[in-house]
Amino acid sequence: MSARRIALTGAASGIGAALRAHLEAAGERVIGIDLRGAEVVADLSAAAGRAHAIEQVLALSDARLDGLVVCAGLGPQVASHPTIVSVNYFGAVQLLDGLRPALAAGAPAAAVAVSSNSATIVPTADGPLCAACLAGDEEGARRLAAEADGSTAYAASKLALARFVRRNAPRPDWAGAGVRLNAVAPGAALTPLLQEGLDDPLFGQAIRGFPIPLGGFAAPDQIAAAIAFLLGPAASFCCGTVLYVDGGSDCLIRGDRY
Ligand code: NAD
Repeated sequence: MSARRIALTGAASGIGAALRAHLEAAGERVIGIDLRGAEVVADLSAAAGRAHAIEQVLALSDARLDGLVVCAGLGPQVASHPTIVSVNYFGAVQLLDGLRPALAAGAPAAAVAVSSNSATIVPTADGPLCAACLAGDEEGARRLAAEADGSTAYAASKLALARFVRRNAPRPDWAGAGVRLNAVAPGAALTPLLQEGLDDPLFGQAIRGFPIPLGGFAAPDQIAAAIAFLLGPAASFCCGTVLYVDGGSDCLIRGDRY
């Protein structure tokens, strides 16, 4: 069997780098997309960079993909809150939409979005900013994000991304075209993104005090393994799943809200 072709945003660091190593060790071909250190160098915070990334991935894959993972993201500590929303939501969904025909050409194929358990744990996530994302209104979402705190901007972008997955996964152009669309919702994983939070005097304390029933922080490999599962044949009946990989925090905090 020939290697599967899998496009991966955020491939240069953290969870994305761990996933690349995992997939390549299994003999898969990864087409990485990142700001640097990847086959496709592109800035996903703006439409031009997203279009460039899509064009390059199509050229490198002969417009046929077996998998796509939208993992690139910015954490709540990033100073520009509009950029958090542009990368985490619009950078992710425009690649999902733009590369969907290439996934359909490679069907059966799979796409995985990287959300976060903050989507359901941060109380301010579900509001106008999340709604503006889902309405496709990037300018409106950026305006709302500029007025929001970093935690809200981050959590709203991740809630919108999980909802995008759940709204689209069962549709004819995804499930009906043989392309499974799912998401992971990681909890705290030790990557440069989390380290930024740990280094912040205020957030650092909050992150260290946050309850994680299994204890400690995840290694990037532990999140990558869940993404690899959703990409692979063992998950061939998973569609629209949001898989929590967070040491039990969501379950502890939201319990029966299921
Ligand atoms: P990371 O900072 O190690 O990696 C993020 C990658 O995204 C980097 O390689 C970065 O260059 C890339 N990226 C950022 N902005 C970009 C842009 N404009 N264009 C292209 N690429 C860009 O962080 P990570 O922790 O590995 O995060 C991966 C994903 O996991 C993110 O979506 C993050 O929100 C999510 N996540 C992480 C945690 C955690 O605790 N680490 C928890 C929940 C969800």
